[in-house]
Amino acid sequence: MMYAKVIVDVTAGQTNKAFDYRIPEELIDLILPGMRVIVPFGPRKIQGFIWEITENTELDRVKPISEMLDPYPVLTNEMLQLGQWLAEETVCFLITALQSMIPSAIRAKPKKILKLSTEEQYLPASLQAVFAGKSSVDWNTIPNEKEIFSSIKQAVEKEEIEVDYLVKDKTKKKTIQSIRMNPQYRGVRFADILGNRAKKQIAVMEWFDTRYPDEKIPIKEVIDTLQTSKHTMQQLITKEMLFLEELEEYRDPYSDRFFEPDPRPELTGQQKHVLAPVRTAVDHNQDTTFLLRGVTGSGKTEIYLRAIEKVLEKGEEAIVLVPEISLTPQMVERFKGRFGSKVAVLHSALSAGEKYDEWRKIHRKEVQVAVGARSAVFAPFEKLGLIIIDEEHEGSYKQEDHPRYHARHIAIWRGSYHKCPVILGSATPSLESYARAKRGVYELLELKERVNNIAMPEVNIVDMRKELRKGNRSAFSELLLQKLKDRLDRNEQAVLFLNRRGYSTFVMCRNCGYTAECPHCEITLTYHHTQRKLKCHYCGYEEPMLTTCPACESEHIRFFGTGTQKVEEELTKLLPEARVIRMDVDTTSKKGSHEKLLQAFGNGEADILLGTQMIAKGLDFPRITLAGVLAADTMLHLPDFRASERTFQLLTQVSGRAGRDKLTGEVVIQTYTPDHYSIEHAKTHDYEAFSLEEMGHRKRSGYPPYYYLALVTIAHEDVVKVMQTAEKIASFLRSSFSPQTKVLGPTVSPIARIKDRYRYQCMIKYRNEPDLKSILNKIANRYQKEMATDKLFISIDMNPQMFM
Ligand code: ADP
Ligand code: ZN
Ligand code: ZN
Repeated sequence: MMYAKVIVDVTAGQTNKAFDYRIPEELIDLILPGMRVIVPFGPRKIQGFIWEITENTELDRVKPISEMLDPYPVLTNEMLQLGQWLAEETVCFLITALQSMIPSAIRAKPKKILKLSTEEQYLPASLQAVFAGKSSVDWNTIPNEKEIFSSIKQAVEKEEIEVDYLVKDKTKKKTIQSIRMNPQYRGVRFADILGNRAKKQIAVMEWFDTRYPDEKIPIKEVIDTLQTSKHTMQQLITKEMLFLEELEEYRDPYSDRFFEPDPRPELTGQQKHVLAPVRTAVDHNQDTTFLLRGVTGSGKTEIYLRAIEKVLEKGEEAIVLVPEISLTPQMVERFKGRFGSKVAVLHSALSAGEKYDEWRKIHRKEVQVAVGARSAVFAPFEKLGLIIIDEEHEGSYKQEDHPRYHARHIAIWRGSYHKCPVILGSATPSLESYARAKRGVYELLELKERVNNIAMPEVNIVDMRKELRKGNRSAFSELLLQKLKDRLDRNEQAVLFLNRRGYSTFVMCRNCGYTAECPHCEITLTYHHTQRKLKCHYCGYEEPMLTTCPACESEHIRFFGTGTQKVEEELTKLLPEARVIRMDVDTTSKKGSHEKLLQAFGNGEADILLGTQMIAKGLDFPRITLAGVLAADTMLHLPDFRASERTFQLLTQVSGRAGRDKLTGEVVIQTYTPDHYSIEHAKTHDYEAFSLEEMGHRKRSGYPPYYYLALVTIAHEDVVKVMQTAEKIASFLRSSFSPQTKVLGPTVSPIARIKDRYRYQCMIKYRNEPDLKSILNKIANRYQKEMATDKLFISIDMNPQMFM
């Protein structure tokens, strides 16, 4: 007998363990770890992943596997191990971790139905009412009553009805009809077989005979090339001289675009210097993590390309992660231009089907390079030689849903599994990564100058408090407006950047720039409209709303945040002759619109590109000579301890857009707090100085990289229930941890209610807490049932990036 341990698709009950099933005779040797199967589970049939094959089981009775879903494993052995580690690290279910590694299209959501196996009249009356003449019913339409469920259970046992799962591949593979010649007929005289008069058929066969043996040619192409008819082809197919085959066609989203071959420049001295250790690591299978810090325009991408070249020479494969918003055609072109069809692109704007296609190209070893956003880190390569994470500081590398993993963490795990290097690249590395590089955990590589000695742009800081005193209430300072006019006169381009609006509202004095901060946490207080109070979202501190500024007694104290649309209207009034393209969530929601707008700007169809953070990255247009930041403070005052770091990163990125080519660039940053260190250091492009100062703050207030954080969020429709549960959890945590570990809260989440559920959170600050994960796991298990039945929501986020 052969058995399989199966990880089943239920997220309630005893779930992190594998269940034993017998492998039916006909499936022995076919079933392999990593395949998906359908198994009976209680009265139902559900999906699961084969975890392990064994020759024995400790159980007396085991049910057989019902069905095999995949003809090949969708998860490699590496992925199974990675899944286990991921589940432990992020405190999530193993099944969730496994599911997250395969594309959504094959993660088919099964539809559950009840099927009649007998005549309806033999059923108990309650079930007859459920079926009411139909042979099957959707599980979801069955009344949620105990009595009905127990009669369902009995009927299932008596085999009067059965429960079925409709698991189907939602994504239909696109196929094209193609023709292949029957090899038996190669080199024969076709007239002998077909008769002299079948001229058309003879012509087709003779043409095929000149092609490669077994070559498959789309039927449309044959008909077009030979000017023949479908009828003629059909006759030959009937005679089995030609075979008609359905061939899979990939939906290549980039196929209609022609990629210019990318020129391969001579490396600069500093580039050579940086590349050497990376090439050595590739050659010697060293799992080093490199932190490549290079100012904007220093040629980091060229380093990536050369390192990949080396990997391909070795016959290995590479993954390149870029943040979703910089996965622009420009970026893709550089990789496709250099490596052509060896590249698969995994983009979130692809349809599920398109993603599935790209994934299968990797699975079938048809490509060697995968370029994509966060989830591309799971690209199922088996001979990985390098993983690159560009803009490694980006928050979007953290998945904000279970499993809450960070792509950097996964990349390093895979690097050590494959014995291959990882490159983390950025102009402004996260403080966590920089600290690790300083301690020698990562190897630091630096590119300090721009390629071709292009100067860093000059940065002007405008104090918006002074503008207000001068009576200028518009979103544009005099200086910025003047510089925009200059660009229009000189026929150059400008980008204007407006920070996204924070989810929460903060309060600022427009006269002196004062913002209210928590006395305990060094973060901005958030205004709660209903109670008219200012609150801290880390520790729960609160105070009444201000009406005058405590610093300068001005009454110009108000909420902050302006939309892009409003700014566009103002801009059109101030500069009616300017052609403006606005890019924000509203104008880019349609698929492909993001690309179109950028293309239009690149073609010079507009003078000013106005947008949210989606324009801060990856733009590389030679005619941009001015970058403006309308309100540097919006991000600075988010209730998040990383607010300063994010502001510095953003300002640096925006500055990086200007003057990348021959024309020198200029930057204007408007702010109410010109003396803030994140703004001062952005002015001088001084990452080193910024990080030093920021590290001081982190150390004083006990944040990463000095402390680790974990965030527990509790949500429910009933506010009392949320508060009680949150209190219980907090006191359980306090009693379980060592005294050095701090538990803050519970307190209201920055977004206090989502979808009618009230939200509270507890933050854990720790340095060394070996039992942390098992304690958090206890919470997850303790509330599992309530989460499944009572709409209670508990999320555990290790190393959180967002505090909303
Ligand atoms: P980064 O990724 O650091 O911002 P890029 O790799 O985009 O920088 O390089 C900036 C520009 O310099 C690009 O247009 C790129 O083609 C060009 N470039 C990079 N390396 C070289 C080189 N060695 N010689 C000439 N041009 C280069
Ligand atoms: Zn003030
Ligand atoms: Zn606080």
